Amino acid sequence: MNAGRHRVVVGGGGFGGIRVARALARSDADITIVDRANHHLFLPLLYQVAAGILPDGLIAPALRSVVRKQANARVVLAEVQYLDLDGRVVHALAPDGGKLTLPYDSLGPDGDRRIPARTKIWAAGVQASPLATMLASATGVGTDRAGRVAVLPDCSLPGHPEVFAIGDMVRLNDLPGVAQPAIQEGTYVGRLIRDRLAGKTGAAPFAYRDKGSMATIGHLSAVTDSFGMKFTGVTGYTMWGFVHVLYLVGWGNRIAAVLSWARALTFTKNRPHRTINYEGARYELTHDTATDTSEV
Ligand SMILES: Cc1cc2nc3c(=O)[nH]c(=O)nc-3n(C[C@H](O)[C@H](O)[C@H](O)COP(=O)(O)OP(=O)(O)OC[C@H]3O[C@@H](n4cnc5c(N)ncnc54)[C@H](O)[C@@H]3O)c2cc1C
Repeated sequence: MNAGRHRVVVGGGGFGGIRVARALARSDADITIVDRANHHLFLPLLYQVAAGILPDGLIAPALRSVVRKQANARVVLAEVQYLDLDGRVVHALAPDGGKLTLPYDSLGPDGDRRIPARTKIWAAGVQASPLATMLASATGVGTDRAGRVAVLPDCSLPGHPEVFAIGDMVRLNDLPGVAQPAIQEGTYVGRLIRDRLAGKTGAAPFAYRDKGSMATIGHLSAVTDSFGMKFTGVTGYTMWGFVHVLYLVGWGNRIAAVLSWARALTFTKNRPHRTINYEGARYELTHDTATDTSEV
């Protein structure tokens, strides 16, 4: 990190956050990703982990390894607690209780969610991160029913062209809270900051590119609707699996995921990644977030 260079603080290393960092890879900016987790969690494959098909490490690479080849990026493990937009400082709390102050020239908070679950039916939509409420009250902008903050067409906050919000925490063009809007908004914001640093102004508003939809609906069965073509059954499932593996971070994780997947569902039909220890099971039972330990 060099004094005098443009400082970008990215609050959250999720789908949106890492795209912001990547888009700024060859820029004259220093990027600090501050996340309360040390890893980038690939949420769409979380239930493959819960089902014992994939090991958790494959879908949750350490953030510092995600940006290890990017000399202008660093990762800080801390929870963002307060955003001082006038002073341009992010206040965060480190795991050891230490208070961190992270000054910035551009700020890009990201969304979030946490789902402790036994068996839960998720039908209430996505609730945006408390960071959205923090930003909304700091800028006087409203939030919608899902707690998402409204942003301008370039993903910035009204009155603060240096502060951007992306992903699940924002309401923009009626886009749903799924991965593609977060990914595309992250790349857009990173490029916008890079262009500003190069003296280019008058950026076009964010435009979403709809790549279609896909969902797995059962054992080796999925539906896909992309670029005017629809597929179901095993063909749909193969396409669904291919796309999800493609978006995992790192070739090692992609190859290992394919092997692990094939082993669990085709070759041995054994789901090998089931590790539950006594302390974890006891904690979940006493906090009503239990795994059924009768068949582990
Ligand atoms: C179980 C599940 C399955 C899903 N399946 C799909 C799917 O199949 N397809 C799809 O398109 N979408 C799916 N989604 C939705 C998709 O994962 C989200 O839309 C996407 O993750 C949004 O990206 P994001 O960058 O906004 O937030 P996230 O990816 O959630 O990242 C937010 C980051 O911010 C960090 N953070 C939050 N608050 C703070 C704080 N105060 N301080 C520091 N760090 C903080 C978090 O630790 C996290 O790393 C799924 C979501 C879930 C929960």
